[in-house]
Amino acid sequence: MAIYLYNTLTRNRDLFESIQEGKVHMYSCGPTVYWFAHVGNLRTYIFSDILHRLFLYHGFDVVFVMNITDVGHLTDDADAGEDKMLLAMRREGKTAYEIAQFYTNSFFEDLGRLHILPASIYPRATDHIKEQVEMIRSLEQNGFTYRTSDGIYFDTSRLTSYGMLSRQRAEEKQTGIRVNIGEKRSGTDFALWKFSPTDKQREMEWDSPWGKGFPGWHIECSAMSKKYLGIPFDIHTGGVDHIAVHHENEIAQTQGAQGCLEARFWMHADFLQVDGGKMSKSLGNLYTLDDLEKKGIHPLAYRYFVLQAHYRSKLNFTFEGLQSAQNALFHLFDLVRDWDPPNDEVSLSYKERFEQALDYDLNIPQILAMVWELVGDASINSSQKASTLLLFDKVLGFHLIDYVAKPLVIPQDVQVLINEREQARKMKDYHLADALRAEIQKKGFMLEDTEKGPKLHSF
Ligand code: AMP
Ligand code: ZN
Repeated sequence: MAIYLYNTLTRNRDLFESIQEGKVHMYSCGPTVYWFAHVGNLRTYIFSDILHRLFLYHGFDVVFVMNITDVGHLTDDADAGEDKMLLAMRREGKTAYEIAQFYTNSFFEDLGRLHILPASIYPRATDHIKEQVEMIRSLEQNGFTYRTSDGIYFDTSRLTSYGMLSRQRAEEKQTGIRVNIGEKRSGTDFALWKFSPTDKQREMEWDSPWGKGFPGWHIECSAMSKKYLGIPFDIHTGGVDHIAVHHENEIAQTQGAQGCLEARFWMHADFLQVDGGKMSKSLGNLYTLDDLEKKGIHPLAYRYFVLQAHYRSKLNFTFEGLQSAQNALFHLFDLVRDWDPPNDEVSLSYKERFEQALDYDLNIPQILAMVWELVGDASINSSQKASTLLLFDKVLGFHLIDYVAKPLVIPQDVQVLINEREQARKMKDYHLADALRAEIQKKGFMLEDTEKGPKLHSF
């Protein structure tokens, strides 16, 4: 087995060799829990899930850390703007703890619905203030910090390697930064600790050697990855938007405080776009999994949609695309129901090609194509197809075991609802028809309207 993964640090598909034999230590930047995750965010978590599953598939002992950001992430990456958590508190009239709890739970539900395997640990930033303060102390002792009237900042000019991830020197980055840098010495310098306002108490604040305040956003990931994984660790992941600022700064902090590279591999998933642009609340094109479900798209169909594109290419979000992904997945479920049970005789040629595609930088689109090739392969009996497909599914994560060789049985109460819905549709009472469809969905079934009439799928 030789695993090659694209490393943003080297701009190469590098041979992956874990630091400790048989073990993989990986870290993914998790959500800021001030709002629901949108499907763009979730694309990035599906990517880290596939990576996680790659290592599990090969039998590695994986320690996977994903942080929960519940303080310090400002609305503006240049250390200005408001703390997103405080904005949410005002919006909803709740405490920071309640906000964090609510959106963290919602995030975990989304992960479950997408069959994303849980991380080993989800450390929260607010539970690790001490570790963050200690790291800032080390940076201070090593001469990488300075003080302004509003906080303690990292002095990027003191670190010769600054810019190694984005491959932009500090001076080059300046030209891209047009915001007012205030008292910062350089646009690339960033906050490690911010002081609470002097005139009033901040809702979330802690004592520190520099005064009451709160940590900057980047320090939590350096401090918590060090605590739970040790440095250097194997792989750090996130979305491509993290390359230039968040991950660059994480690398700088660990380099400054510990004198070593934080992680060997830095992997980034490209963006989910809408009409070639950003998915954002203000443009009204932001969707959550609930929004998709309201439009009849099952979360697993979203997973299938995402897996059709390689993680390093942009993916355009359209409902037509989602619908065809859903049709393909439903069709797969229907087909495998009629197969014979698996017999543990995996097709070795398919297995070999599957592993080649997987191990060469997670070529999941190729594996999906292989799924359909296998389904239509007349030279293999259905038991062997089932065993082989279930092997693929360890990584694809559709829980095909729930469908293989299990013909659909429609419960009586669901059949009654289907008949009632057909009746409502005939009477053109679409409101009632939709309500009945929702009722059917609650019972774990999804209706697809085909030319031959309604077709039922179960999850
Ligand atoms: P945030 O909660 O804003 O910190 O973002 C959580 C994760 O989602 C980060 O890894 C981001 O890089 C990623 N992300 C944000 N927007 C998108 C998008 N449109 N497509 C893919 N990933 C995204
Ligand atoms: Zn992070």
